[in-house]
Amino acid sequence: CGVFGMYDRHLNVGNFTYWGLFALQHRGQESAGIAISDGSNIEVTKGMGLITEAIKQLPDVPGGFITSGHVRYSTTGSNNPKNIQPLVIHYQGGDMAVAHNGNLTNALDLRRELEGSGSIFQTTMDSEVIVNLIARSKAESTEERIVEAVRRIEGAFSLVISTNDKLIGVRDANGFRPLCLGKTEHGYVLSSETCALDAIKAEFVRHIDPGEMVIIDDSGVRSRLFVESEAAINKALCVFEYIYFARSDSEIDGQSVYQARLNMGRELARETKYEADLVMSIPDSGTTAALGYARESGIPFGEGLIKNRYMGRTFIKPDQAQRELAVRMKLNAVADVVKGKRIVLIDDSIVRGTTSGIIVRMLKEAGAKEIYMCVSSPAIEYPCHYGIDTSVRKELIAATHTTDQIREYIQADKLHYLSREGLCRAVSGVPEAELCFACFDGDYAVSVPEDQDEGGKY
Ligand code: 5GP
Ligand code: SF4
Ligand code: MG
Repeated sequence: CGVFGMYDRHLNVGNFTYWGLFALQHRGQESAGIAISDGSNIEVTKGMGLITEAIKQLPDVPGGFITSGHVRYSTTGSNNPKNIQPLVIHYQGGDMAVAHNGNLTNALDLRRELEGSGSIFQTTMDSEVIVNLIARSKAESTEERIVEAVRRIEGAFSLVISTNDKLIGVRDANGFRPLCLGKTEHGYVLSSETCALDAIKAEFVRHIDPGEMVIIDDSGVRSRLFVESEAAINKALCVFEYIYFARSDSEIDGQSVYQARLNMGRELARETKYEADLVMSIPDSGTTAALGYARESGIPFGEGLIKNRYMGRTFIKPDQAQRELAVRMKLNAVADVVKGKRIVLIDDSIVRGTTSGIIVRMLKEAGAKEIYMCVSSPAIEYPCHYGIDTSVRKELIAATHTTDQIREYIQADKLHYLSREGLCRAVSGVPEAELCFACFDGDYAVSVPEDQDEGGKY
């Protein structure tokens, strides 16, 4: 998901939030919402689909100066209009809208506990657990209520919360998901990624730290740790943000995403040293790494696949047949470019093996001689519990197949996954110990309840 919020008494914050979310569209295409507050009244507009479809008209709040917005990414079984964020509540402490990126690992336990003491839930969103905790807190101020609530939740959460008089940002103690602070001439912005700051010409100020909460109001920005002690902070930024999820023109926690992807390609070239005629990518997600491979190896880069740019990301399709169709609608081979060639084909990841399998067959049908598939991430063997839909375990091809079996399945002539070491060198701006690699090694920084874990390694 993508989250975005603004506090500015001089700009049309609704419009700016719309464009900010538009720049975060790659983080979620399932639904979108914007809440605007004028200090005493909060209104929200939400809808399904891309932001251009979801929000035909902004909430009508003349004099509105605080916003929170959200673009939703599909995670398992959630295609329900009730689950659109931000979630707006009116409680005795005032009004509040909450936009959440991430996945809580103890949401089910908290929900049971809250239901046991009388709470009623209307959605299946983790965010509803958060607002219930906030509303039920006995603390005096909104800020303290939020602190109390976020101390109880576990897992991944980058939150943008708008209240009647404040914009609040919170990043979980592991910092799984990014969150940054920007500045406009007279106000402030919170955003999942820096590319959205650029889009609205806000100046980048800094990233929010894991375990940090920022409070923005008329007196400026205040910062505090919400965790009980610094020992609770255990940095584990999602390395997949660099591999695939974030936009290349963003910078996360001091590391440029573009540079990381270019480096991943260079590392792949060093690890494979394949002799080939052409380097190409599965666009768009593999392109920057392919460029890196080409530069490092000296093998020319070519565009052997053309993308229909009017399609969304293909990953988010309900079943295998529809996924296949979607890939074919999205990409087609250029026979002129690939005919007779030995091709290094780069993609960012293999999840189920659908995309790469279809593409390898497509390229061979177009006359490619050999396909050397290079993946700019290690093999994904474990599910993500922190907000990225790397699928349920049994669907992850690398959980049940060896690399050679996968090579055979996708019908490639060679298959190489970037090593963990190569990946770490590519993302050298963030120390290895401060990154999450759980979908590759099963080492979860925050443990998940056993009944939600889908068992150990098969
Ligand atoms: P597969 O076809 O192997 O199931 O998925 C791999 C493809 O899905 C890659 O081309 C990659 O770019 C894309 N992909 C990988 N992870 C994600 C994700 O979390 N979300 C979306 N939308 N696409 C993904
Ligand atoms: Fe990212 Fe993988 Fe960790 Fe999930 S498990 S947060 S996708 S690195
Ligand atoms: Mg892709």
